[in-house]
Amino acid sequence: MSDDEKGPEEGDPQGVLKETILEDHDRLGPNDIFKFGCHPGISCFNTCCTDVNIFLSPYDVLRMRQRLGISSTEFLEKYTLLPVQKDMTVPVVLLKMQGDEKKACHFVTDQGCGLYTDRPWPCRMYPVGLASSRDTEDGWKGDRFYFLLKEDSCLGHQEAKEWTIQEWMDDQEVDAYEEWGEAYKELSLHKYFEGGMVLPPEKMEMFFNSTYNLDKFRQFVFESTLLERFDVDEDFVHQMKTDDEELLRFGFFWVRFTCFGEPTMKMKPEAEQAVQDKLDKKKSLDPSTPEPS
Ligand code: SF4
Ligand code: SF4
Repeated sequence: MSDDEKGPEEGDPQGVLKETILEDHDRLGPNDIFKFGCHPGISCFNTCCTDVNIFLSPYDVLRMRQRLGISSTEFLEKYTLLPVQKDMTVPVVLLKMQGDEKKACHFVTDQGCGLYTDRPWPCRMYPVGLASSRDTEDGWKGDRFYFLLKEDSCLGHQEAKEWTIQEWMDDQEVDAYEEWGEAYKELSLHKYFEGGMVLPPEKMEMFFNSTYNLDKFRQFVFESTLLERFDVDEDFVHQMKTDDEELLRFGFFWVRFTCFGEPTMKMKPEAEQAVQDKLDKKKSLDPSTPEPS
């Protein structure tokens, strides 16, 4: 399959596709039926795991590197590309293919995907694409539909097995991916970005570490003064120490607070007082110092 059919668009890790792409595909609902089969006996087996653009969400990275038993830093360094573009609003993480002529995925084996139960969302979804639009009254969550990706080189479409879209989604076990994908969309399509706003480099780095590089974020949470300054539920702190999904949940709260100014974090009164005292002192030395907002 072609690069743009294996996964969603660039900068769009969870499937918000431009209307131009949707114009070429029928919109499908959960009960619509399609025919498809993919199995080791098919002559195109594994060809789609070669030379392909696959965009990874934070949850994809979490699952894949847990499966490999390596740190997020090592996973990101070894297995991903981080293209930087001028007008990029959020970090883009691509699965890196091998460097030889064939450009096969690092995880493909003769038996198929070597990470099968932890394969990323785009690999699970194919040949079903998911689209949602922000241009509805109730926001981007409101208009959500599926479409079928078809390419001549994929012989799976000639197989007789019938699926409804819902059966396919259930079979591919996408529930957790969908839940995290929705949460990530709320960050990546945040209204902060409307009107062309971009995050300054230090906030972009914070965004990246809090969502994709959880080892760095863990260090920041537990080795800085963050937990002394902010009121975080003790049970949540305890869970974050051992459960990366809870740490990722906290990372999303942190991004909302630091990058978008949402009240998802509460400062402890003594920390707030310390900030106020510092500002008062500064103001007494320089009366033009602005009041905190
Ligand atoms: S049937 Fe399609 S999805 Fe399955 S291996 Fe062949 S090209 Fe890939
Ligand atoms: S992660 Fe697995 S399914 Fe996805 S391209 Fe690599 S080998 Fe194929």
